[in-house]
Amino acid sequence: MEDRQRKQETEKTEGQRLEEQLCFKFPHIGAEAPEQRAEADAFCQGYKAFLDAGKTERECVAEALRQLEAAGYQPVDYSRQYQPGDKVYAVNRNKALLITTFGKKPVKEGVRINGAHIDSPRLDLKPNPLYEKHDIGYFKTHYYGGIRKYQWGTVPLAMHGVVVKKNGELVEVCLGEAEDEPVFCISDLLPHLGAKQNERKLGEGLRGEELNVIVGSVPYADDKVKEPVKLLALQLLHERYGITEADFFRAELEMVPAHKARDVGFDRSMVGAYGQDDRVCAYTALRAEIETAEPTYTTITVLADKEEIGSDGNTGMNSDFLKHYIEYLAQMEGCDPKEVMANSLCLSSDVNAAYDPTFPDVFEVNNTAMLNKGCVLTKYTGARGKSSSNDASAETMAKVIGIMEENGVYWQAGELGAVDQGGGGTIAKYVSRLNIDTVDLGVPLLSMHAPFELASKLDVYNTWKAFMAFYK
Ligand code: MN
Ligand code: MN
Repeated sequence: MEDRQRKQETEKTEGQRLEEQLCFKFPHIGAEAPEQRAEADAFCQGYKAFLDAGKTERECVAEALRQLEAAGYQPVDYSRQYQPGDKVYAVNRNKALLITTFGKKPVKEGVRINGAHIDSPRLDLKPNPLYEKHDIGYFKTHYYGGIRKYQWGTVPLAMHGVVVKKNGELVEVCLGEAEDEPVFCISDLLPHLGAKQNERKLGEGLRGEELNVIVGSVPYADDKVKEPVKLLALQLLHERYGITEADFFRAELEMVPAHKARDVGFDRSMVGAYGQDDRVCAYTALRAEIETAEPTYTTITVLADKEEIGSDGNTGMNSDFLKHYIEYLAQMEGCDPKEVMANSLCLSSDVNAAYDPTFPDVFEVNNTAMLNKGCVLTKYTGARGKSSSNDASAETMAKVIGIMEENGVYWQAGELGAVDQGGGGTIAKYVSRLNIDTVDLGVPLLSMHAPFELASKLDVYNTWKAFMAFYK
């Protein structure tokens, strides 16, 4: 057998040798580097724990701060002078984070920015959410981000968020995560009575005003009370959190899938979980930031909010909080922030669509990321003729590909689906607006934005490796 192989080697035709020299295909990591499977699996233990600890941007900030403080990071003091290797962070309104390890080069020569977002599609409670109808208690919701509404019915949901009471006290809410806690749910029709609903278009399978979360079904026992099911729910909320109906107006309460991150497949090669867009890049970026000791360039790891609704709002990347942070860093060194930005390089770290063999029509197979071929470098996102895209330059692509190849990172290139099939955006255009070279890089996902998204562990692991290389 080996002899035959050797003979075949020497008997390669001119064309075969030329093919080897000139053609290129991204390898499958599982076939080329099977030893990475165990490393990726070990890495994803921490990743799954992060997903379970952070199901809202606030919870992700709290969990990140816990890890940062354990690693010796300090709140930044803009009046101080920092040395290479010093580690600081700045929190924006408990919903976004800027994290830095100071580099050996002055910031004048540019910084390395790695930006991921920690908000995920979900169902927000409306400002006045609680009502009852025919003896069932409900929360009215308003979906946040791009969801396929039909996917959110009959899925166990947990309630997360905060309430600011009249006296200013902040109450944290998390209910439905522990095994002994109740969960919540949106109902859907039984197939026996679904004939008419089946004729709806899929996008209307469940309509926005049908995403009503069931919160109770027994009344407060007093026939003088007009809405006794609602009252019982309020009584229980008051007992647990000390809040009343008026407090909903000072709250951010969110319904998210109650399930935990799990291994998927006989081979356990994938992670299935809610919120992997984009906590997969947030976690890999955070770990790379923490594990970077003395980088060449000063790092700025950004964990941003609001990406799923277009990055607007002062905790999203369409706010100036990153720019102001860079201005502070420049001030501390006595240089011009414009120079810092012009010399900087940014990874807009976000997920992309993985090729789904069940739905081949929306992909162009040569330009779509595949599971297990590594992190995906995305030159441009956008829709139609690249509208609203950052469209990284060839020079920026060369720089980032060079960093990955020098460090043995498995990476691939991909577009978000075939031309004119749809599209999407990331934070890239908001960072590049600051005159910073920016390109998208992240993990390919199956079922993006669904209550249970899938990622390959090898891809997650190589995304972390890419970020480590970027911060070297
Ligand atoms: Mn995303
Ligand atoms: Mn998204």
